[in-house]
Amino acid sequence: MPALSHRITTLNGDGSDGWDVFYRARAMVAAGHDVTELTIGEHDIRTDPSILNAMHQSALGGHTGYALVPGIAALRDEVATRVQARSGVPTLRENVLITPGGQAGLFAAHMAVCAPGDIAVYVDPYYATYPGVVRAAGAQPRVVATRSSQGFLPERVALEAACEGAASLLINTPNNPTGAVYPRATLQGIADVVRARDMWLISDEVYDTQVWDGAHLSPRALPAMAERTLVIGSMSKSHAMTGSRIGWIVGPEVAIESLIDLATNTTYGVPGYIQDAALFGLRAGAELEAEIAAPFQRRRAIAERMLGEQQVVRMIPAQGAMYVMLDVRATGLSGEGFANALLDTCAIAVMPGESFGASAAGHVRVAMTVDDARFETALRSLCDFAAGLAKAA
Ligand code: PMP
Repeated sequence: MPALSHRITTLNGDGSDGWDVFYRARAMVAAGHDVTELTIGEHDIRTDPSILNAMHQSALGGHTGYALVPGIAALRDEVATRVQARSGVPTLRENVLITPGGQAGLFAAHMAVCAPGDIAVYVDPYYATYPGVVRAAGAQPRVVATRSSQGFLPERVALEAACEGAASLLINTPNNPTGAVYPRATLQGIADVVRARDMWLISDEVYDTQVWDGAHLSPRALPAMAERTLVIGSMSKSHAMTGSRIGWIVGPEVAIESLIDLATNTTYGVPGYIQDAALFGLRAGAELEAEIAAPFQRRRAIAERMLGEQQVVRMIPAQGAMYVMLDVRATGLSGEGFANALLDTCAIAVMPGESFGASAAGHVRVAMTVDDARFETALRSLCDFAAGLAKAA
């Protein structure tokens, strides 16, 4: 076999990616074990039947051919209206590209703003695909380290240092894996750094409907940021449409024009019946979105109560998204060590913090994606297990 490209064989970088626990848990389930899986970010409900019905009707109505590459006009308009209403930033159809999910948007955005070899910065801990996305786009990853004691918010000094000579900064609020929602002051600091260095900001806002404390602020709304910000949106989390692969990029018209060229030569757009279903979902209104987000808010409250009853495991304050990050350093184990031991002893699967970057070492991420009763039982077992380890340490 001829050699594969360096780009593709080095996509995942080197070293442990921390996904062993996830795959071990899946293997245990396949072998018939009862494992509580709190690993990946997927709802425990499915896409609403009304959205599926719209998809079905669209497909039967003939929307199974090539759809317009930038997205159908009605959906681009709907996204523009939504983004304008939520952020206050004037937004038109020309500012919107429909993409096959937020993931494709992240890749396209980096392709658009990073030349080969450019430095692309993101905040550690980070969503697992970020380093691979940057490498796939031919750029070099560089992280902004953060501290658990600061709620994993990026601090000005670390940001300034990481952004030196960089082309882009990628942020994610509400955050996966930390649950942080960036306050206005943090976002203003980020905007200052990005403007001063004439960089692009890529703002991953796929969890923007899942905020429990405070409010989501899109950095595109800050002064002089609309011209240098690409917002990544998705219906995966807001409408429980993970498998439908539908999202968008919002940005300056000239950038969107170039991104349409990229889409023409890569994805060639998103199926028309998926877009019609997305349009239906967006028009269904805020009530459906609130209903889909509600279980995570309830479970976050359960987590706060359970963790509040003990002293060994510390919960990082979570204001949004479907995860809680737990500091397990008092057990004497690494996040990876703890997650493996928890799986073996209690049949509970959580993600080691290390799989999201060095800043989350000694932590585990718990996805709040099982029913409330099971979630509470799992957290109680986790805390008891940690207490046992701490006593022995
Ligand atoms: N960004 C973040 C932070 C995510 O957690 C995810 C999915 N887990 C994505 C982007 C991509 O989501 P999708 O491609 O399903 O829209």
